[in-house]
Amino acid sequence: MLKIGEIGWIEKDRPECGPRDAIVRPIALAPCTSDVHTVWEGAIGDRHNMILGHEAIGVVDEVGNEVKDFKPGDRVIVPAITPDWDSEAVERGFPSQSGGALGGWKFSNFKDGVFGEYFHVNLADNNLAILPEGMSLEAAVMIPDMLSTGFMGAENAAIEIGSTVAVLGIGAVGLCGVAGARLRGAGRIFAVGTRPKSVEVAKKYGATDIVSYKDGSTVDQILEATDGAGVDAVIISGGGPDIIIDALNIAKPGAKISNNNYYGSGLGEKDTIPLCRVGWGFGMAQKDIVTGLCPGGRVRMERLSDIVTHGRMDPSLMATHVYKGWDKLEEALLLMREKPRDLIKPVVLLE
Ligand code: NDP
Ligand code: ZN
Repeated sequence: MLKIGEIGWIEKDRPECGPRDAIVRPIALAPCTSDVHTVWEGAIGDRHNMILGHEAIGVVDEVGNEVKDFKPGDRVIVPAITPDWDSEAVERGFPSQSGGALGGWKFSNFKDGVFGEYFHVNLADNNLAILPEGMSLEAAVMIPDMLSTGFMGAENAAIEIGSTVAVLGIGAVGLCGVAGARLRGAGRIFAVGTRPKSVEVAKKYGATDIVSYKDGSTVDQILEATDGAGVDAVIISGGGPDIIIDALNIAKPGAKISNNNYYGSGLGEKDTIPLCRVGWGFGMAQKDIVTGLCPGGRVRMERLSDIVTHGRMDPSLMATHVYKGWDKLEEALLLMREKPRDLIKPVVLLE
C-alpha cells in the first residue's frame, strides 16, 4: 500500500528478529477483503509504504535466541492476528485486543504485513503453529483468518444443538460461519448470498436454505420460511452497516447477533451505524450484538488444523483462483476488490 487508493511494489530492508521472534518466508499467501477496506476505503486511516497482507503459510528463516519450539526450515501456519501474550488484555481474556482496540492485528495494520519476501512474527512460540504433513497449501492458507474469523462468528453466536441460524453473507468468512454453525450442531442454517460458487460451497458446508438478498427482502424471506418466528442466532459476514437492521429483524428475542463484518465504508457523513428501534425490541429484547476480531495464536491455529486434518471441513473448496509466483499477487489482490461472480478466494503459491 503506497497510500490510500494506491498499491505497488517497494523495496524494504529485511525485518530484524527480536529474541522471542521469528522471521518467516511466505510460501502461500491470500489477499483478504480487509486489505480492500484498508487500501481502497482508507478504513483504518492513512498508511504509507506499508506492506499488505495478513494471511500466510511460510517457512521459518530465523528465530531469536529465546525461541524454544521453532527452528529455521519449519513450515508454519502464521495467524493473521498475533497478540502480545504477556499483555493486560490477555489476562482479561481478550487477546485480539492486546495493546488497545484491534491491537492484536499487527500485520498490514501498524507493521508490515506478510506480502513481502520476509516478514517478522512477534512471540514465535505463541504465534506460530507447525503446518501438518500432507495438508495442502490451498487449504492451510484459509486457516489464519478465514477459518478463525468464520468460526469465531459461530462461537460468538452461542449456537445450541438443533437451533436455527442465519449467516448473512457467504464470502469465505461467511462460508466458514456456515461450517462453524454446522460443527456446533445447528439444526437449520440459512445462508444469504448470490455468487454461484459460494452458494455451491455453502450447501457442502451445511447450509439447509439459500436466500438471495437480491430476490426481495432477506427479512421477509427468512420470517416467511420460519412462520414468522425468526432465528436463534445470526452471523453477519457481508453487507453494509444496514445489515445490522436485517439481523435484528430476523433475530428471536434472546438471539445473539454475531458480527464479523469490518465496517469500512458506506457509513456516510455521520460515521454511525443504525439500529432499528422496534426490531431491537426497544433495546430490551435481549438481542445482543457481539463483536470480535479474528482470534490468533498458536493454540487456535493448532485446533483449526485438527479440523482440517481430521476431515471435519475442507477449506480448499474456497480456493477458487490459485496462482503461482509473486508476479500474480497484485492480480489476486485486485480480484478480491472486484469480486467476480466465480470468486470465493484467490490464493498465491510461492513454491
Ligand atoms: P465477501 O465480499 O467475499 O462476501 C460478502 C458476502 O456478503 C457475499 O456473499 C455477498 O453476497 C454478501 N452480501 C452483500 N450484500 C449483502 C446484503 N445486503 N445482505 C446479505 N448478504 C450480502 O467478503 P469476505 O467473506 O471476504 O469478508 C466478509 C467481511 O468480514 C468483510 O467485511 C471483511 O473485511 C470482514 N472480516 C472481518 C474479520 C474480523 O476479524 N472480524 C477478519 C476477516 C474479514 P454475493 O454472493 O451477492 O456477493
Ligand atoms: Zn483477512
